[in-house]
Amino acid sequence: MLIKQNLHNILQSIPKNATLIAVSKTQPASSILEAYQAGHRAFGENKIQEMVEKFEILPKDIEWHMIGHLQRNKVKYMAPFVHLIHGVDSFKTLKEINKQALKHNRLINCLLEVKIASEETKFGLSFEEVEELLKSEELKNLKNINISGLMGMASFTENNGIISTEFKTLRTFFDSLEKYKSFNVNPTILSMGMSGDYKIAIEEGSTMIRVGSAIFGTRNYN
Ligand SMILES: *Cc1c(COP(=O)(O)O)cnc(C)c1O
Repeated sequence: MLIKQNLHNILQSIPKNATLIAVSKTQPASSILEAYQAGHRAFGENKIQEMVEKFEILPKDIEWHMIGHLQRNKVKYMAPFVHLIHGVDSFKTLKEINKQALKHNRLINCLLEVKIASEETKFGLSFEEVEELLKSEELKNLKNINISGLMGMASFTENNGIISTEFKTLRTFFDSLEKYKSFNVNPTILSMGMSGDYKIAIEEGSTMIRVGSAIFGTRNYN
């Protein structure tokens, strides 16, 4: 009941054209089913293994989003079904996704992860690296992927001004990518905002938020 209420409250507070990904990492299948029965279909996981296990036992019309850092050697396990891969931060990974997508005769949508936080530990490409990748001739060979936009995580801070500035900077950069549009570059999705900062992210132009604990409650790990 609580999960359903939380979903409802969040959906009420965001624009109709923004997408809510329910981040179900570490949560049992029963909690995902509870959200599913409330009508929710988009779920996010950060470990490929865990996502595959859940995919196998849960309804097949769920859209699975991979939001975590990718291990290239495991991309093959999710290639048959993954809906959107949020955390792509190298050409090598993109190439592996393309290879696995081709094997399954699929087109896999990907977001490039951009580093916007000041912390050292966060993954992601710089703005320059994103542009280099989008400009590269090699990208044209990847016919089974589509770059659908960007993903970013703000600094872990209580300072809303910093968070807001980081999201604003990413939105501006996202808007500047129009010039790279091509058959496999169609930037329409800006994935930013988590439980603690999705309201700020929405204000700054997020089109997709990834919310876990505000729906399912606090996690013990990860
Ligand atoms: C865990 C996670 C989230 C959700 O975090 P919450 O704070 O629980 O909402 C969003 N994005 C990524 C990349 C995550 O790993």
